[in-house]
Amino acid sequence: MSLCLENLAIRKNNGDTLFSALTMTVEKGEMVTLMGPSGCGKSTLLDAIAGHLSPEFNYSGVITLDGMKLDSLPAHKRQVGILFQDDLLFPHLTVWENLAFALPDSIRGAERKDRSLLALKHISLTKLANSFPDQISGGQRARIALTRMLLAEPKVALFDEPYSKLDKDLRAQFRRWVAEQLKQANIPSLMVTHDKEDIPEGSRCLNWPWESKNAG
Ligand code: ADP
Ligand code: MG
Repeated sequence: MSLCLENLAIRKNNGDTLFSALTMTVEKGEMVTLMGPSGCGKSTLLDAIAGHLSPEFNYSGVITLDGMKLDSLPAHKRQVGILFQDDLLFPHLTVWENLAFALPDSIRGAERKDRSLLALKHISLTKLANSFPDQISGGQRARIALTRMLLAEPKVALFDEPYSKLDKDLRAQFRRWVAEQLKQANIPSLMVTHDKEDIPEGSRCLNWPWESKNAG
């Protein structure tokens, strides 16, 4: 299982090019980081992979997951998970309900709660099951948000500056924790960030500009 980008280019409809000829492969179990300054097109790239590209933009090139072209699939069929800088749990749902919301439709009835509670147990946060998002800490919300993303059983995980809203001490901890969770999930993951401290130790990173033939 791998995510491949081949000669990807994203342009604004007015003709401005964000980037062109981005070619890279992310293998399962691997996290690759794309570094770039604010405004270079990081979030827009993730939108294109997830199938949410704004109509202001168009892209060319090929995106494949597991050898299958994603281009013609609508967003909800792509099985692409995204974690944003603002994790945005639903404020009116409890922690376990937030998790249950992400479960695949094939899991039904009481099993949805059981699965959610099991996921909380795995991350040692069982005690938060009935809390609301505004009753728990920012670090806990970040963990719940990642767990929720993974419960949806994505085939690839995308991260958009996932640590930028956390304070410094928490960030180091959360980075390590994310790496562990992803190792268990064993899917390809792609992170975009402007902060080089976000790059996991020993992992691949591609610096802006991304037009590089030897990136993948
Ligand atoms: P990054 O995530 O790297 O900071 P973005 O992908 O958000 O950058 O944006 C890339 C460029 O596209 C920026 O110049 C931004 O101002 C512009 N942009 C972002 N969203 C839109 C939009 N919906 N319509 C037009 N331009 C946009
Ligand atoms: Mg962005």
